[in-house]
Amino acid sequence: MPGDSGTSGDDQRRRRDVSWPVLLALVAVMVSLNVLVVALVPNDRPVRARIPYSPLFLDQVRAGNVASISSQGETVQGQLKREITVPKAAGEAKVTTQLFSTEVPTFANDTELADLLERQQVEVNAKPPDTGRSFLETVLLSLLPALLLLGVIVFVLRRMSGAGGTAASAFARSRARRVDPAADAPRITFADVAGIDEAEEELEQIVDFLRDPDKYRRLGARIPRGVLLTGPPGTGKTLLARALAGEAQVPFFSISASEFVELYVGVGASRVRNLFTDAKKAAPAIVFVDELDAIGRSRTAGPATGGHDEREQTLNQLLTELDGFDASTDVIVLGATNRPEILDAALLRPGRFDRRVPLQAPDTAGRRQILDVHVRSVPLAADVDLDRLAAATTGMVGADLANVINEGALLAARRGHPQVEMGDLEEALEKLILGAERRIVLSPEDRRRSAYHEAGHAIAGLLTPGADPVRKVSIVPHGESLGATLSVPQADRFSYDRGYLEAKIRVALGGRVAEELVFDEVSTGAQADIKQVTEVARDMVGAWGMSDRIGPILVLAGNDLSWHPVDGSPDTARVVDEEIHRIVEDALDAVRALLRDNRARLDAVAAALLEHETLEEDAIRAAAGLPPAPPPAGVATIAG
Ligand code: ADP
Ligand code: ZN
Repeated sequence: MPGDSGTSGDDQRRRRDVSWPVLLALVAVMVSLNVLVVALVPNDRPVRARIPYSPLFLDQVRAGNVASISSQGETVQGQLKREITVPKAAGEAKVTTQLFSTEVPTFANDTELADLLERQQVEVNAKPPDTGRSFLETVLLSLLPALLLLGVIVFVLRRMSGAGGTAASAFARSRARRVDPAADAPRITFADVAGIDEAEEELEQIVDFLRDPDKYRRLGARIPRGVLLTGPPGTGKTLLARALAGEAQVPFFSISASEFVELYVGVGASRVRNLFTDAKKAAPAIVFVDELDAIGRSRTAGPATGGHDEREQTLNQLLTELDGFDASTDVIVLGATNRPEILDAALLRPGRFDRRVPLQAPDTAGRRQILDVHVRSVPLAADVDLDRLAAATTGMVGADLANVINEGALLAARRGHPQVEMGDLEEALEKLILGAERRIVLSPEDRRRSAYHEAGHAIAGLLTPGADPVRKVSIVPHGESLGATLSVPQADRFSYDRGYLEAKIRVALGGRVAEELVFDEVSTGAQADIKQVTEVARDMVGAWGMSDRIGPILVLAGNDLSWHPVDGSPDTARVVDEEIHRIVEDALDAVRALLRDNRARLDAVAAALLEHETLEEDAIRAAAGLPPAPPPAGVATIAG
């Protein structure tokens, strides 16, 4: 894999940067321009008649009509005092001119000619007086197209970068925006980031390291080089990276990887190199690479759409830079992406982006905190209820909330309100929801349905013997799904018994059954649940020998849902189907009974979810009226 080449020689690196086809094309263009220009620019060399040495030239000298000559080897050029008319060359039209040239035969008597010239007082020069273009002119003329082309390139590059800069560096400037701690721009700190406390905590150690690297180095601690911030757009990845730099008071270099992938092959790679050179010079420093997936897309993840070489070169350069750090370089690289799953595995190796900090859409409390941050400099009227605003914005991320406040302030200003009123904010919210191309908030009905669905999973998980403990429940939209219930086994399991698998099926059915119970109908939200149920039931029957009618025989081949019986018999297929259905129907009956019997618990958990949106294990148990979770069984406890 090219990405593994790691540290490489300087020349190899340079070769990667310069793409030969492009270079050759440039040279070809310059050469042809050159030829064109030299041919097209008129050479105002005067017409010079070639005349025979004898008798014409000697006659003219003797007649005293030669003003001056100059000689170079056998060739003599000169100027006459009066014009004469001679054929310009054999067979050509006659010309009338004062300028001539002639060839002195080698056998001519040099002294005799010299005497003659002297007698006639002809001016004799060693160099021809005029050769049309001078040497300097010729050089300038041939350089002109090259200079012009260079000028155009520099112009284009500067236009593209939208900023000034010297011509020489325009080609490969890193274009990173550098933010210095000492700069006038207000320093962003963790106080400006809200609602993503876990991510903040992860980064605090890095702040500490940047402030006092020696403290860590003395103990031989290895600080992560690369930290990958993942999460949906607008959740505050850039903000967090800047806050990190602000907290540590170090320079912050930021660049978007999508800018690397531009017109010219090789530009991305040299920009990456310059970026890191600058950062190392300024160390301790933070380099932030936004939209990392633009260059870091997996090389196997489908065909790239253009710019493939460029992307690969840039990615390789980035890997080289990451690998090239030695232990004494205090540069931390933060990457951001909203699609971590498509990143090239080479980027995620140890020593590269090996630490991940996930950011999620905030829950009610998180949104309230984010609103607080953004109203700090906004005068609010007494009727403003930020809790209500937070509750009404399920699904919104930090960027959306910042927008709501800003739009609200704009509206208030337009209406001449002295302070921002709740009405302004509500209208701003409405406007944003209507104008957004993606659905940014959950409707109240969707929220309620989602809360019952997740509460159904949670209750089934809590009350079914043998099920994995429920760790966290959330109705904050997450990717495609509206909510999530997280169950984590207490210890790694290597084999499953029938009871465990049946419990798994029941928990997966809990969401759907709850919807059925409360709303008398089910939504499409249970699709992933149904897939899981089907897969587990199928494997119980066809692969794990847990159906008495089939027995401990492997009967299924194929993968996923397109299975078929190994023996190809339709009878076997029918029995397998019946068994799968029986297992699922039994589980459905059990879950229906369970949730009906525990309807009060279901309602309570759903209500708690509607209020808080995310619940941790203890909060779920408390809402369901259950005692706190017993200590994990996997951990040894000493009995007295
Ligand atoms: P991302 O890089 O994840 O797409 P940004 O960091 O660019 O998101 O966020 C855009 C803006 O949204 C920020 O400048 C900030 O004003 C606001 N914002 C986003 N997340 C938060 C947060 N957690 N706390 C406060 N403000 C936030
Ligand atoms: Zn579900």
